[in-house]
Amino acid sequence: MRLNRKVAILGATGAVGQRFIELLQDHPWFKIEVLAASERSAGKKFGHACNWIMNSNLPTEIAEMPIVNVDLESIRKAGNVDLVFSALPGGLAGPVESELASEYPVFSKASAHRMDQDVPLIIPEVNPEHVGLIPIQKKARGWKGFISTDPNCSTIQLAMTLKPLMNFGLSKVIVTTMQALSGAGYPGVSSLDIIDNVIPFISNEEDKLECESQKILGSFNYDRIMPDKLILSASCNRVNVREGHLESVFVKLDQDPTIDDVEEAFRKFKGKPQELNLPSAPDNPIVVREEKNRPQPRFDRKEGRGMSVVVGRIRKDPIMTIKYMCLGHNTIRGAAGGGILSAELIVAKGIA
Ligand code: NAP
Repeated sequence: MRLNRKVAILGATGAVGQRFIELLQDHPWFKIEVLAASERSAGKKFGHACNWIMNSNLPTEIAEMPIVNVDLESIRKAGNVDLVFSALPGGLAGPVESELASEYPVFSKASAHRMDQDVPLIIPEVNPEHVGLIPIQKKARGWKGFISTDPNCSTIQLAMTLKPLMNFGLSKVIVTTMQALSGAGYPGVSSLDIIDNVIPFISNEEDKLECESQKILGSFNYDRIMPDKLILSASCNRVNVREGHLESVFVKLDQDPTIDDVEEAFRKFKGKPQELNLPSAPDNPIVVREEKNRPQPRFDRKEGRGMSVVVGRIRKDPIMTIKYMCLGHNTIRGAAGGGILSAELIVAKGIA
């Protein structure tokens, strides 16, 4: 396996792009080679074009890098790239990622290709076998590269907690989300809209949670994904929190496990990233908190360097079977960190 891969980041100036830059500092396998964003930023130095909103300092060498356009020709000219991370807005990502995938492996955080039949929608601990779609996709589309996608931020943390519950015969899920502001990108929601408020609507988010979860938890049958028959109902809200989505989850199970059984299933849950010891893998993908008032975004979002999902308040439900709260860091596990972990998995498997 050849390491030290050179990467391009599309949408590098945005909330997710900046998180990619931060997480890739000192990454053992991936080195930032090219930064790309809109025509508004292209041609400028990154430090001039970007309003850096990470808590860490903007690295000097990144501030000095030029920003280029997101098309194939510009990326080719800008450097000797091995793979591409895309943090572009959904609408734009579709054609741009297809163009780049003709030449490069593209790891996308955008929604454009997530539900394409031949594109994997990966959470490395949950459905690593879905990367089997990649050779099929390359052949069908005649591409040198490929597209691999990650789910929506609120879906990732939910699906990670649903996977261990499948052993109890999971059949129905009701989820209400309380989603952080950074999930809307930068500058995102206007302060006058969100201060002293909760907004009970996030465009397309409920559909994404429902459809993506069925694909992720589905089975890979030689050349296609058979979606899981799970029925989900989602209700999504934007809340006045900077980072970390909190979700209230109700599940219907065929079996009637004790709270201890459920807790143990969450605690024991591990996957390929832990087995392969991938650089971004958290030791514990799911962390269970015992306190009656946890998880909370401010205290728990950085668990496992932002890569663990934190679960708490597991209890019996008189209508469904079990209910619990779960929390995930939306720009780390839900976005850039999840994307990097997917790329690590696919590189480790020798597919990219
Ligand atoms: P964002 O903060 O609004 O950043 C958007 C980025 O795309 C910026 O770098 C922007 O560059 C660039 N861009 C905008 N229009 C462009 C154009 N016409 N051509 C080329 N580049 C353009 O958004 P974000 O929150 O980082 O989200 C990026 C993607 O990740 C979206 O698809 C989003 O749905 C997804 N996602 C976000 C999160 C999250 O928590 N935020 C989580 C999971 C997935 P300029 O600065 O030059 O305008």
